[in-house]
Amino acid sequence: MIFPEKFIPELVIESPGRINLIGEHTDYNLGYVLPTAIEKKITFKFKKNNSKTECNLYSLGYNTGFTLSLDKIAKSNVEWENYILGVLNEILLRTDKLRGFDCTIESKLPMGSGLSSSAALECGLAYGLNELFDLGLSKMDIVLLSQKAEHTYVGTQCGIMDQFASVMSEKGHVILLDCQSLEHQQIPIQIDPYKMIMLNTKVSHNLASSEYNTRKKECEEGVAILQGHYPEVTSLRNANNEMLEVCKNEMGATIYKRCSFIINENERVLTTAKALKDNDLKLFGELLYEAHDGISKSYEVSCPESDFLVDFSKQYDAVLGARQTGGGFGGCTLNIVHQDKVDDFVEAATKAYKAAFNIELDAFEVKPSAGTYIQN
Ligand code: ADP
Ligand code: MG
Repeated sequence: MIFPEKFIPELVIESPGRINLIGEHTDYNLGYVLPTAIEKKITFKFKKNNSKTECNLYSLGYNTGFTLSLDKIAKSNVEWENYILGVLNEILLRTDKLRGFDCTIESKLPMGSGLSSSAALECGLAYGLNELFDLGLSKMDIVLLSQKAEHTYVGTQCGIMDQFASVMSEKGHVILLDCQSLEHQQIPIQIDPYKMIMLNTKVSHNLASSEYNTRKKECEEGVAILQGHYPEVTSLRNANNEMLEVCKNEMGATIYKRCSFIINENERVLTTAKALKDNDLKLFGELLYEAHDGISKSYEVSCPESDFLVDFSKQYDAVLGARQTGGGFGGCTLNIVHQDKVDDFVEAATKAYKAAFNIELDAFEVKPSAGTYIQN
């Protein structure tokens, strides 16, 4: 499908990626996370096409598009189409107001880098169609149906964090989200004279989806064992280290390590939220290093490239803390760097990374930004 050169949209939607300051893999364990949207985003341009069922979508990044019919939605063999089809399927389960539309998708958000381009893709589409056809969906409906689409059509059993952050974020704030109750607090974040610098490893070891689902299963196994002793433990959110020690022998080393990481990571999220409120940036940084250690050694979702960058940052007094962010096996590391030393640090890290892996590092600053919005 080739889109007409002059595609004049009726509606333009900006759908951001997100970073999570801390709380990795805690969302599907119904614990806490601390994410925010970032300025990098996907732009969707929409117009109705007066057809009852025909929809045309075009991804400028992939330079390819496809046509689908709303009365014949089914899974595709093309991965990215399933994000779209999954969202449409979920919308059709909720409303009969959807009609034919044309849409272009242009992204400034690197894919597979732990910045959740997948949630930005799902939520931006749902948000735009809700506006275009007045579907009457709430923001929370958009979050939940987008998550469901990823489960049913893509096959990643993701938690709620990515979609929640992409839609609900507010400029200058991070969200302390309780993934069990979905209660959340917008926490103002002020880390001057430090900056949040992302280093993109440019690797995304192709384990993310399968290992993600494996980790989820391992946690469920842990919960089942804990429940034998403590019936009140319905998720790792409700477990503590004391309970874990009682069940240690039954669990075996791997399940024990996974559960231990999640229990401690949940604690770290709450301690980090408090540290940010108290402006204790030193503690914030220490918690990031501690979290990465767990991600690497206990949850085992890091990789040599991410470990290298986090270790490298430890030589610099100007870096308060660093960790790999996102589901794992590559993507970006988050680094809290003094503003006067950002250039020095990035230059040194780029050199060292190139020498170690022969990959050109990508570095950029992120600022807590607004969730999905209509461009005027
Ligand atoms: P992440 O969410 O961390 O970026 P994922 O592997 O979860 O990584 O999602 C990346 C996938 O989302 C891509 O492989 C692609 O299928 C889809 N995607 C993201 N952005 C776009 C885009 N601009 N156009 C088409 N597909 C996209
Ligand atoms: Mg994703």
